[in-house]
Amino acid sequence: MQRGSQQPGQHHPLPKINMRSFRFIAILYVSLFLTTTLSAQRAADFRSVVEKRLAEAKLELKDVCPVDTNVVAHRVFKDYGAMYVANSTVRYPTKCVFSSEEEVAAFQNDIPTTLETVSGRAITLQTPAMIALKEAVAAAAKKRLTITPRGATAAKRGYADTFRIWNSRFEPGLNHWVRQGKITAADAIKARQADTIDQVAQVIEWETSGWWFSTGMNRSIFSSVAAPGTSQHLSMVALDVAEFGNVEVRQILNEHGWYQTIIDDTPHFTYLGLKGSELPARGLKLQFAGQFTFWIPNFDR
Ligand SMILES: [Zn+2]
Repeated sequence: MQRGSQQPGQHHPLPKINMRSFRFIAILYVSLFLTTTLSAQRAADFRSVVEKRLAEAKLELKDVCPVDTNVVAHRVFKDYGAMYVANSTVRYPTKCVFSSEEEVAAFQNDIPTTLETVSGRAITLQTPAMIALKEAVAAAAKKRLTITPRGATAAKRGYADTFRIWNSRFEPGLNHWVRQGKITAADAIKARQADTIDQVAQVIEWETSGWWFSTGMNRSIFSSVAAPGTSQHLSMVALDVAEFGNVEVRQILNEHGWYQTIIDDTPHFTYLGLKGSELPARGLKLQFAGQFTFWIPNFDR
């Protein structure tokens, strides 16, 4: 009898507590899910945000990045465009695809930059980006963590490197398809003399016919090189970080305005100088990939 009277007494509160904690956890999960979903859904239209910002400088998107008429511009805007919605201290390039060394140099020499040695490597960034990075490095040091530039060209880059690597695929590919009789000599000359943006667009078009420009002429040229003149590193607002796999390091960088903005390029951080809560209004949406959180342009058209 004692057992019998104890059992109902013990049974009752147990399921109640379990149910309560289950409900609590369920509500927590649902609200967490809703928060992330909503914050992603509430992202403003990226294109509109950029157009408004450009208008303040009397610029038009079609001149800065002709997303409606050029496939390269469209791709670059979608993949690398986050820098166009950074805080007002950050300077953005007035062309999303630089055409020449001179154009890159003109941009790079016209804006405030700082050269500093960070964790043993000399790097150059736009000054506000460098200030925030130094603060992040100091915050990391308090937790016995380091933020190290990854590789020899982790921050500022020049046009020449990207152009040389592009040409190492473009030229042999062009010669190959001219020899094969697929591309005429006249079209080859036209492509060689074209602006970078038009040259890259032409290669994309040729590749749709199966005339590939990779080293083995069997894959897309983009499988191994980026279009020249398109990197955020040219704008000096990007840093490749050796410790990108450390969640605490990522959090510290986020707290200082640095975010991962390019899907699949996990070591790459972009200086936006904004709080995470401000990003949806800037047209950036959250995207999760494995353990990583990316803020990417809410742009599909
Ligand atoms: Zn990078």
